[in-house]
Amino acid sequence: MIISEKAAHYIELEERYGAHNYHPLPVVLSKGRGAFVWDVDGKRYFDFLSAYSAVNQGHCHPEIIKALCEQASSICLTSRAFYNDCLGPYEKYMSEYFGYDKMLPMNSGAEAVETALKLARRWGYKVKGIPENEALIICCEGNFHGRTISIVSLSTDPESFGQYGPFTPGFIKIPYNDPESLERVLEEKGSKVAGFIVEPIQGEAGVFVPDEGYLKKCHESCRRHNVLFIADEVQTGIARTGKMLCCDHEGIRPDIVILGKAISGGVLPVSAVLADDGIMLTIKPGEHGSTFGGFPLAAKVAMAALDVVKKEKLVEKAEYLGNIFRKEISSIESPFIRQVRGKGLLNAIVIEPHDGKEAWDVCEKMAENGLIAKPTHRHIIRFAPPLVITESELTEAIGIIKKSLKELE
Ligand SMILES: *Cc1c(COP(=O)(O)O)cnc(C)c1O
Repeated sequence: MIISEKAAHYIELEERYGAHNYHPLPVVLSKGRGAFVWDVDGKRYFDFLSAYSAVNQGHCHPEIIKALCEQASSICLTSRAFYNDCLGPYEKYMSEYFGYDKMLPMNSGAEAVETALKLARRWGYKVKGIPENEALIICCEGNFHGRTISIVSLSTDPESFGQYGPFTPGFIKIPYNDPESLERVLEEKGSKVAGFIVEPIQGEAGVFVPDEGYLKKCHESCRRHNVLFIADEVQTGIARTGKMLCCDHEGIRPDIVILGKAISGGVLPVSAVLADDGIMLTIKPGEHGSTFGGFPLAAKVAMAALDVVKKEKLVEKAEYLGNIFRKEISSIESPFIRQVRGKGLLNAIVIEPHDGKEAWDVCEKMAENGLIAKPTHRHIIRFAPPLVITESELTEAIGIIKKSLKELE
């Protein structure tokens, strides 16, 4: 890729002064609006990553930015040592929006996952009656739930967990998309299992969509064995897959829902855990918290961002445009395309390396042509534009993908 002197300057600074925990595509962005971003040289790109689905509402949505600016000039942070006039309305809003008794606010997705794991263990001891320190939580191979020590203890990806041990005990890993293996483990150890945590679609694993009925069967097994069904909807939630929550596709209501990313439309780190009283109230004052969790600025921004999802019918848009995307991409004749999969506007192409070129080369070529996306696990490219993208913009973007694949042949 050709990198301008200006772009090279910023890349060099990150290289020199930043930890090397990411390997970005060499594109240096300085502005975003809707489905588009611009680099420091003024070149425009379609954003087909949407900050890992945090920017579902599009970059710098005016309604969200307005809420941000208005609240920022009143009060930003109070801590939870005092009450404020934003958190209560926000908690009520979230409870009603998603249909749960209560919400527990955090900041990053990982913190919300940690919160859900703590809640499940606490419920396991207080309600289910598991002997103390013996609670088990079941998770799936190939998962991605975040980066803390406890969460990478669930991971089966050596890149995520390698040389970060010793690990948190109490997790059982079973194959994803295999409801029988869940039932087997529950039959054997169910009395000590507090929860089963699952991504309704495995996003980071490469948009791995499980068979229809998988979530439903797992949910039934959890019911039978008195185990909490915990849905990590950090990436799949908030309209991304063509339903408000991805679990809605199978008509199941998780006991605990974990949300993050798009709650704020990519404006602030905002995450949340939703559950009913029987679970949520097992944690008492002083037993969990976060300095910033649910801060006034986050509360106002989140409500504005979730309003946008409804006002602009992003659920319906994701469903409609997703069908067009998969149909069009599936019809491309290219030696690079092994498989196209996804739901709503969370999609991926599994790339067949060809002529020494692989997913990274495809992404560089697409960037040259004005569309940015990033490989995951070397051979998979995720395509997840902001849900505010219009049909004609999507058609133009599909044209860029086609052209890029052709040019690489
Ligand atoms: C991104 C993600 C997380 C972690 O969120 P962070 O905000 O990066 O901590 C957790 N679960 C899933 C499914 C995710 O995609």
